[in-house]
Amino acid sequence: MPRIADKQFTERLFAKAEKLIEEGRISQVSEYLFYVIGFHGKYFVAVTEGNIRCNCAGFQRRGVCSHVTAVLLYLLREDYKEKLSEALRKRIKQNLELIRRGEIPSS
Ligand SMILES: [Zn+2]
Repeated sequence: MPRIADKQFTERLFAKAEKLIEEGRISQVSEYLFYVIGFHGKYFVAVTEGNIRCNCAGFQRRGVCSHVTAVLLYLLREDYKEKLSEALRKRIKQNLELIRRGEIPSS
């Protein structure tokens, strides 16, 4: 399985993630559990300090998906980031940077 995604894949991933946020498709279920109404189904994204995962097929296959990316971006927005612990904020930034570079964050 390739660990490095191509640039086009990464660009699409971020474009989709932004769209999910803009269209208000993310809602918070519990402290770090999010419900995402995707373009092809409804999914859960769980974010903890040690682990970020989604239950969609794309994530199972590639270890990354637009839902996870959307939730990470969403968590770093102004209205939310004050609520994050420093460790978690740091980890979210690192994960986003990896995804941006086309690498799959290890979970
Ligand atoms: Zn997903």
